[in-house]
Amino acid sequence: GAPAPPALAVRELTVRFAGLLALDSVSFTVEPGSLHALIGPNGAGKSTTLNVLSGVYRATSGSVRLGGEELTGRSPHEIARLGVARTFQNLAVSPYATVADTLLLGRHRLTRTGFLAAGLRLPSAAREAARHRERVVEIAEFTGLAPYLDRPAAALPYGLRKLVELGRALCMEPEVLLLDEPVAGMTSDERRRTASVIARVRESLGISIVLVEHDMGMVMRLADAVTVLDFGRCIADGPPAVVQSDPDVIRAYLGA
Ligand code: ADP
Ligand code: MG
Repeated sequence: GAPAPPALAVRELTVRFAGLLALDSVSFTVEPGSLHALIGPNGAGKSTTLNVLSGVYRATSGSVRLGGEELTGRSPHEIARLGVARTFQNLAVSPYATVADTLLLGRHRLTRTGFLAAGLRLPSAAREAARHRERVVEIAEFTGLAPYLDRPAAALPYGLRKLVELGRALCMEPEVLLLDEPVAGMTSDERRRTASVIARVRESLGISIVLVEHDMGMVMRLADAVTVLDFGRCIADGPPAVVQSDPDVIRAYLGA
């Protein structure tokens, strides 16, 4: 049969902010089940790329496809429903929400029976709610959050709060997970723990990951493929070992 379409196909993506070309015809392909790193110096356009992929920013031109589905022009909500999950800098939840509540929020895009059925206490809604709670416990075990399920998420140490954010994205059962510097600001212990969760997301859950990361060691260990951006342009793309020794990449990083 025909080969499986790529998880994400980014084609000639251009983003212009008043007077600034943040992305200049960037193309890359994320293979299904792979971890694709997006690296480059500060201001290269990495976060802008993730913001376009998740529908937060509108591309000036170009296209993004998820499987066969065109994502360009869709709202963040639609893109999330289609299976692209991302983490945010801050956990936007009530200070009283427990870790379990926060993870349950990630299940919302999957809720079928809706609030009316839940309000009427229909058996279908009860069954669905029980399924969601079971999955939350599974994800908590997978991420190492199980001991904290009943704790207020906002009161946890920084590294665990970031892990809750990752857990919430996983609760959406995404096809593609977008991570913008997931270990930034973490202690080395927290970094190790988070890197191991990310590796297992790819290996055990088969979710494709786009990882923006500064820690080059982590990129080289985890990535199947690397795209390098510099001043909004793609300057290299390929396996980590090849990209690492690319003269253009070395020049961009040394600022020479
Ligand atoms: P990176 O994540 O690689 O450090 P960004 O994607 O955040 O880079 O930024 C790329 C460029 O686009 C920078 O010059 C940044 O100042 C600019 N930029 C990002 N977002 C906006 C915005 N909303 N409005 C104007 N300029 C922006
Ligand atoms: Mg950034």
